[in-house]
Amino acid sequence: MAQDKKVLVVGGGGRCHAIVDALSRSPQVAKIWCAPGNAGIAQQAECVPLKDTDVEGLLAFAKEQGIDLTVVGPEAALSVGIVDAFRAAGLRIFGHTKAATRIESSKEFAKVVMDKYGIPTAGYRSFEDFQEALDYVNARPFPAVLKYDGLAAGKGVVIAAKPEEAEAALRSMLLDETFGKGRVVVEDFLTGPEFSFMAFVDGERVYPMPLAQDHKRAFDGDKGPNTGGMGAYTGLPFITEEDREFALKGILEATAKAMCAEGCPLSGVLYGGLMKTPDGIKVIEFNARFGDPETEVVLPLLESDIYEIFEAVACGRAAAQPVWREAVTLGVVLASKGYPGSYPKGAEICGVENVDAKVYHMGTKREGGKLLTAGGRVMMVVAEGADIRAARQKVYDELGKISCDALFCRRDIAHVALDGRILDGKALSDRIKEELKERVGKLEVKYGRKPSLAVIIVGNNPASQVYVRNKVKTAIYVGMNSRLITMAEDVTEEALLQMIDTLNRDPEVDGILVQLPLPKQIDEARVIDAIAKEKDVDGFHVLNVGDLWLGRHCSVPCTPKGILRLIDESGIDLCGKTAVVVGRSNIVGKPVAKLLLDRNATVIIAHSRTKDLKSVTLQADVLVVAVGRENVVTGDMVKPGAVVIDVGMNRNAAGKLCGDVDFVGARQQASWITPVPGGVGPMTIAMLMENTVECFLDRVEKA
Ligand code: NDP
Repeated sequence: MAQDKKVLVVGGGGRCHAIVDALSRSPQVAKIWCAPGNAGIAQQAECVPLKDTDVEGLLAFAKEQGIDLTVVGPEAALSVGIVDAFRAAGLRIFGHTKAATRIESSKEFAKVVMDKYGIPTAGYRSFEDFQEALDYVNARPFPAVLKYDGLAAGKGVVIAAKPEEAEAALRSMLLDETFGKGRVVVEDFLTGPEFSFMAFVDGERVYPMPLAQDHKRAFDGDKGPNTGGMGAYTGLPFITEEDREFALKGILEATAKAMCAEGCPLSGVLYGGLMKTPDGIKVIEFNARFGDPETEVVLPLLESDIYEIFEAVACGRAAAQPVWREAVTLGVVLASKGYPGSYPKGAEICGVENVDAKVYHMGTKREGGKLLTAGGRVMMVVAEGADIRAARQKVYDELGKISCDALFCRRDIAHVALDGRILDGKALSDRIKEELKERVGKLEVKYGRKPSLAVIIVGNNPASQVYVRNKVKTAIYVGMNSRLITMAEDVTEEALLQMIDTLNRDPEVDGILVQLPLPKQIDEARVIDAIAKEKDVDGFHVLNVGDLWLGRHCSVPCTPKGILRLIDESGIDLCGKTAVVVGRSNIVGKPVAKLLLDRNATVIIAHSRTKDLKSVTLQADVLVVAVGRENVVTGDMVKPGAVVIDVGMNRNAAGKLCGDVDFVGARQQASWITPVPGGVGPMTIAMLMENTVECFLDRVEKA
């Protein structure tokens, strides 16, 4: 094969750099020009100072240089008809005609096509009139999705949470005509993870690329304003092979066919912005070109000759399905501080030459031998790895070699793929409660009475009031008898002990619970000891704790019992694993440690004086934190893949309910994690009910 082809790439961002980079690997390509290009592209192609929408200029240049193939990056060039002009002049070009580009440039056209050909997307209506649009939006559930029907540089979509926001957006789009005169499409709000599926398309022929996901928001945790994209990765674990197959056949191939039937066949890249909703995969939007920054992570995986594919599509001839490497890629964007708002330009970037990964330039320029920032998104570092974690580690390691005070990046790219799954204590406890409800019904039939729980609350501590109310409510829900005994804050220890004695002797009472903490004048230990061992449903009585350590039948303390159920829910086999328990109270930490030991885990129990706690927690396959202080465990203290149980239940300085673990940071390391609230708390209550039923059974069976 002769290496004699001359290629012109139209565009200048990171996407074009990735296209140029892929073309430079082609055995057929002799020389690449890029208009206008940038400082990074200049290392692999000759940059031509022509704007991407200067169709006349580009056409003249292509003729003059005898370009074999022109490849168009940005949508602006396509929508001004660059492809139509080149074709009319008999030049070979990769990209859609102006008519086909409407799949991106007109939201309404895209919706009509999808409707007509049964391609799944959100329900919608389109409006020209402000009042009609407003009435429609206000009559429907919020949030409302409003899309300006035209090119609006990514700013034409508003998700309005409230009527005021919707009105302001409609006013700006339809009355103030911020983006020009046009229509607005009002769509149903869908939920689920979004992903990008791109394909080279030539009429009905579709050549799919690997799936990717980008991160639109400026800051970690998907916070902050929308941007052009702050990073992307491939190898999406939440999309199954069936999902992909459906998206390929039911969406990309169906759309390619539909566009042929509509008389405007595609001949470039079709980009499906898709969402995996609870009702299946749906189209959020189509683009008529390579996505940015997805292209930067997808094209490095291409093993086939990209020139071959571009040329086949441009000529309308069949090509072989492209071959993609099995690895995954991840890329992080370095952006100018201030972006997507205003930001300074011209800051020097150092160290790029030391980076051992792909660096795609987005907005850079070279002046006097120095590399300078020249845009909002400045460059993207992309690395390959065997899995996402490895690729991400590599990217962040390499990013560390670049120094420039004017830049920032997100630290959590691919968090959706790497974040631990939630151990939903609320859902699990609901299941247990349903089972108990059924069991209690049967017990009543068999023994002629229901299990019964007596709850004592002393004083009016608001948190205790809430806990107690929940416990009584749950007892009623599962069909038990329950009795709430309220005693004054200044009650004497004697009076409380007397009450406990009465309940101990009451044959109708199976379980006794005294809500802790107790006022200062009362000795908690004496109170716990006073509850009859066989009625201690909390499992705090010394004899219960003793029996637990001896491995004898007893009431297992509720919180530790619930924690073990949550750990089991993760599916981890504890035998041989290392478990670390932080906090060694008698009611949480120590019993948890014992239950973990009984499952043949190696258990380390740490407390407030444990030196270098991080070196201990980093060993944990299972990490249980029961300390009662915010952020005792941060993300860097969690071993990748660990199961993390946050028992803590505190209020932070802002009064917000929080646990002991930094949830956002830890979730990026953990394979499973409990949230606060919604993790251990609901399980404690469910276990309390279970213990009451067990105490009931012990008593009726003894009797
Ligand atoms: P305690 O105060 O009785 O015990 C806390 C333990 O944490 C102590 O053993 C203490 O160790 C240890 N500790 C304190 N600071 C540190 C530190 N910096 N590093 C390591 N260990 C430390 O509390 P509980 O065990 O009763 O409860 C712990 C948390 O769990 C609380 O937030 C509580 O609200 C919550 N909880 C939640 C329940 C639920 O249902 N969700 C039920 C029960 C508790 P040392 O002894 O060395 O001082």
